[in-house]
Amino acid sequence: MTSPESAATPSPRRSLPTVSSGQGAAGCHGRGNREAAAASGETSEAVQELLRDYPLGPHDQPQGMCPAFGSLRVGLRMRRTATILSGSACCVYGLTFTSHFYGARRTVGYVPFNSESLVTGALFEDIREAIEKLADPQHYDAIVMTNLCIPTASGVPLDLLPKEINGVRIIGIDVPGFGVPTHAEAKDVLTGAVLRYARREAEAGPVARPKDLVQDGPTVALIGELFPADPMGIDALLRPLGARVGTTVPPREWRELYRALDADVAAAVHPFYVRAVGEFHAAGRTVVGSGPVGAEGTAAWLESMGEALGAGASRTGEAVDRATAATRAALEHQGIRGRIVVSGYEGSELLVARLLVEAGAEVPYVGTALPRSPWSDPDREWLESRGARVQYRASLEQDVEAAREADPDLVLGTTPAVQAAKEGGTPALYFTNLISARPIFGPAGAGGIAEVIRGAIGGRERLARMRSFFDGVGTGHATGYGHVGVPERRLTASERHARARADRSGKAGEAA
Ligand code: SF4
Repeated sequence: MTSPESAATPSPRRSLPTVSSGQGAAGCHGRGNREAAAASGETSEAVQELLRDYPLGPHDQPQGMCPAFGSLRVGLRMRRTATILSGSACCVYGLTFTSHFYGARRTVGYVPFNSESLVTGALFEDIREAIEKLADPQHYDAIVMTNLCIPTASGVPLDLLPKEINGVRIIGIDVPGFGVPTHAEAKDVLTGAVLRYARREAEAGPVARPKDLVQDGPTVALIGELFPADPMGIDALLRPLGARVGTTVPPREWRELYRALDADVAAAVHPFYVRAVGEFHAAGRTVVGSGPVGAEGTAAWLESMGEALGAGASRTGEAVDRATAATRAALEHQGIRGRIVVSGYEGSELLVARLLVEAGAEVPYVGTALPRSPWSDPDREWLESRGARVQYRASLEQDVEAAREADPDLVLGTTPAVQAAKEGGTPALYFTNLISARPIFGPAGAGGIAEVIRGAIGGRERLARMRSFFDGVGTGHATGYGHVGVPERRLTASERHARARADRSGKAGEAA
């Protein structure tokens, strides 16, 4: 059965450059697809907006997981929200596997395609049918439909889906690897989409009342997936200003979006949520960047908050003095000595680096896979004034090279950066699991991070013993062979392609 909206909608398919598979010569997230789409001038509005909002930089393609994992995780964490993917089966397998590995405990819907359904536009009909079957208001407030690389590149127009079926909101998003460089930015794609939907609902008329709506003073909406204790710590910092934390986005349920938009000020604690920030601006809210990390960072952030909230100089001064004293005391108690290279793809790298410097560490390099943003400019300026080099859209190669040059006591980074550091005998910690998964704001953050950092720096001797124990077992293709019977190294797929290309161009040159 089709809804009135769907009956009126033809089977559409936009004319876009198509790709034969998700794993082109430039890799599944390659620049090539993106440039081809942009250069053709035939990109859908959705792809053009992605190109505008998530610019390329020195680091032009994800070197981590599929970006769509970010938006998928945000959707899976929202109550009464169904998520559906459309893309290559291998992509969907990887995304659902990773989701369940991280404890999703929720079903992920899948609309498959083949060459015919892509070419004829039948995939759009399949998607619409799947959504209509799922749109049961008894179970769901919203359905998030995500186009992965191939449906996006093929122009499957999710913006033509009905906006609502049986009272269930339909949110269509395109999250291709060639348009969204990191999984962190994909979180923003969905957060921005649901905020926009909720803002338009609120503008159109009365909406459901959010639970625990704060009404006795101004509130601040926090932007970013924060460690669960952090909003409480930030709330304690805001109370002397007469304000409270209203809620955090990405949200856990639909009504929280109304509470977020009802806030007086939005705090772009994670600085890469450009679309979410755009929605707060559209709702007329002031947005404050950076975050309350370390004593100086907390003081600067509270001053900006005091101004944005209209708290007055004297009240703000008292709040700053109180927070600064508590944070400084925690930092003095937890001093860190050592040179630390920081890198990651979470978007909180600059904040963590600030905290480390205030705790006594030397930080010569901060690499982040995220792009430059006005919301992290205060942190960048602060770090650069203390001798740190900040690299936006940092590639793995840049992070590894920076760590090699700095000869640090500790590397914080992604899995391959950590592996490279440990292979060289430098202690290293995985940023995502060991640094992001702890509070970093206010006095609690100042007191919490030092222990894990000191423990890791103190592990150099143990690492040296491990290296000497495994010395001579071989590396790379020779791992496990030692020096005897080492097999010939086989070329990787990209090396084989490069050789074939070189052969072809050589033959073409001879023929000419
Ligand atoms: S959907 Fe993700 S895994 Fe699949 S081709 Fe695109 S970026 Fe790669």
